[in-house]
Amino acid sequence: MRILITGAAGFLGSHLSDRLLKDGHEVIGMDNFITGSPDNIAHLAGNENFSFFRRDVSNYIFVPGKVDAILHFASPASPNPLSKSGYFNLPIQTMKAGALGTHNCLGLARVQNARFLLASTSEIYGDPEVHPQTEDYAGNVDPVGTRAVYDEAKRFAESLTMAYHRFHNVNTSIVRIFNTYGPRMDLEDGRALPNLLKQALLGQPLTVYGDGAQTRSFCYVDDLVDGIVSLLYSDEHMPVNIGNPIEMTILQFAEAINRITGNKAGITYVDARSARDPQRRQPDITRAHEILKWEPKVDLEEGIRRTIPFFKEKLGTV
Ligand code: UDP
Repeated sequence: MRILITGAAGFLGSHLSDRLLKDGHEVIGMDNFITGSPDNIAHLAGNENFSFFRRDVSNYIFVPGKVDAILHFASPASPNPLSKSGYFNLPIQTMKAGALGTHNCLGLARVQNARFLLASTSEIYGDPEVHPQTEDYAGNVDPVGTRAVYDEAKRFAESLTMAYHRFHNVNTSIVRIFNTYGPRMDLEDGRALPNLLKQALLGQPLTVYGDGAQTRSFCYVDDLVDGIVSLLYSDEHMPVNIGNPIEMTILQFAEAINRITGNKAGITYVDARSARDPQRRQPDITRAHEILKWEPKVDLEEGIRRTIPFFKEKLGTV
């Protein structure tokens, strides 16, 4: 296939590019670098099956030639208010990437008769009242809350995707991505793993927000990419959760990072997150298992070990 990936220079987009090239496809990357980095795709320069357009997907997009599939992954994604690349500080771009960007990609998919895959998110469930989250749970999101720019843009993107599927018969799919980590995460984006692993490798105390009792379920990037690619190759149209169902508190997560890295500096509790930090999050992956025969394979310890060399290189502590 000839596959367009928006957000190709991002954490997930670059791993997807690698995987789809490895599967023998031609990949066209698109990114405007507001949160992605050229470093993430530098190794693909010179690959005859990879081409790249520096574009903002919120504007009209044109790709020469036939396109068989479009993966829309362009969006700021970090919820940390302190991060320059987080969506708190890029609110309008975030809404435009989810709304206008999705519209442009769907329009292209329609004229090209291409399979379309939307990168959606566990954030569409908001601060969930149903646990673990199944795909039929409609969510608990405040449309004027501080996270709304991301959550509601993705919810709109899902609705628009289903409208193109139902009304124009576009071959669409929606993946709801839960917390994911691995090499090529932006060390400065303020999310849990980049913050805590960076602190651990620098021998600093780990900043746990609040009391650390809030939970997340962390998936290693290779597992996530396997799930997304299986969904792309399937003919499923309804949303599918992809994530690791092993739930832990953020305090347990921080303790695991200290143990794996041998960091002796401990933990410090800080009050850095605004209200509405979701209190619990865990994917129910029954559908992914049934439809795609997919489940994650990499445990937390192994995933963190695989992530450390990238962090050390970026920190210059190799
Ligand atoms: N968190 C933390 N310390 C940090 C960064 C994040 O305790 O240095 C917490 C944060 O409050 C949240 C969880 O880790 O409860 C996951 O945050 P992240 O930013 O990775 O993404 P989210 O799951 O909230 O979208």
